Amino acid sequence: MANKKQQSLFWENESLSLPQKYARAISLFQEYGPVLQQQATISPLLTSLIQETSDLAQYMEKQQLGLICTMCAGKPGGSCCSMFMGNNTDILQLISNMLIGCMPTMHETDADSCPYLGPCGCEFKVKPIFCLNYNCLHIAHHLGNSRLEELTCASGKVLQIQLRLEEELLKHLSS
Ligand code: SF4
Repeated sequence: MANKKQQSLFWENESLSLPQKYARAISLFQEYGPVLQQQATISPLLTSLIQETSDLAQYMEKQQLGLICTMCAGKPGGSCCSMFMGNNTDILQLISNMLIGCMPTMHETDADSCPYLGPCGCEFKVKPIFCLNYNCLHIAHHLGNSRLEELTCASGKVLQIQLRLEEELLKHLSS
């Protein structure tokens, strides 16, 4: 069961705007990042996360999924990367990225688009879980069942480590 400090980090996250979550994550990372990276329970998870996010990115590139997203993004109202999706970013997910050397940029954007969508796609190596699990119909159609299963499997490996890391971060940041 979550303790009071863990609950407080959770509720703090829920009440903050996107820029506030970003600022809070940077300040926590600056204060605790080096210590967290050295923790025996966290360090191996970071190594695994670097490997699995890289494998997933390579798989997506091999399947040319970026091209599909770019084609949609060029159409009016076309991108899946909306503010609604971007609102699923949270403090632990932001810090997870920072701990593996991925410093996301928040872009100036219209009110409907996710500010973490850069010119080369999503800024994150560790995406919000909602984004990680989401595949639109164009992607599903492009991949077909067996490659969609491969993609789901690669995403699932990232997700497992991501959740274990968040659990550890919560323990350390709440103690
Ligand atoms: S995948 Fe990345 S850019 Fe797209 S909505 Fe999610 S966080 Fe934003």
